[in-house]
Amino acid sequence: MIHLKTDEEIELLRENNILVSQTLAEVGRHIRPGVTTLELDRIAEEFIRAHGAVPAFLGYQGFPASLCVSVNEQVVHGIPSADCVLKEGDIVSVDCGTFMKGFVGDSAYTFAVGEVSEEVRQLMEVTKEALHKGTAQAKAGNRVGDVSAAVQEYAERFGYGVVRELEGHGLGRKMHEDPGVPNYGARGRGPLLKEGMVICIEPMINMGTKAVVFERDGWTVRTRDRKPAAHYEFAVAVRKNGPDVLTDFSIIEKALNN
Ligand code: MG
Ligand code: MG
Repeated sequence: MIHLKTDEEIELLRENNILVSQTLAEVGRHIRPGVTTLELDRIAEEFIRAHGAVPAFLGYQGFPASLCVSVNEQVVHGIPSADCVLKEGDIVSVDCGTFMKGFVGDSAYTFAVGEVSEEVRQLMEVTKEALHKGTAQAKAGNRVGDVSAAVQEYAERFGYGVVRELEGHGLGRKMHEDPGVPNYGARGRGPLLKEGMVICIEPMINMGTKAVVFERDGWTVRTRDRKPAAHYEFAVAVRKNGPDVLTDFSIIEKALNN
């Protein structure tokens, strides 16, 4: 069932997603060779709680941390660990959720650790642009398939693999609401987008094969060929005139440039 949100509810979702953006910025400031993914998780949890929210991922279906931190060939749902030390040239996808005032925030960003190779830089840029292409389709009267196809077409133009097993979702009082928002599909198909829908659009794009493996830890998803993957996520309110992006990557990118 799809829950349409009032303007007031959308503003509470925006508050959450701005806090997620600020948390990702704080995490991004600490990403460098030598830091462990567990330290990043601690930084995020403290930051979220200091701002009057609760980490939405912690305990979600038993997930043991506040962030999903996925390094290189890990696509999503990586578990922060004291044994996972970031090194120069890695990329790290950080997915973060908050719960505050009855609503959820959920966004993700892929960071470079120091200097990364040109081909990895391109994977990151194309994945982020695929997110923007999908987001541009999130307007009332379009269908979910318009968002999905825009993401898929752009990513595949570069020969990348678009992950099939995981998808975006509605967002509201719960982290995962209807509709599902796949990163592949056909224009004009799927649920109708209506004013007041809030969806997370989250391309998971692999440099090589689209095939993934679910690790035995019960959470981590990695590429089958162990080539790197990138993941960016926006929460977006569907409006008559177009998308209203509730996430703010400029907060993250300003922090990275300082
Ligand atoms: Mg997420
Ligand atoms: Mg999500």
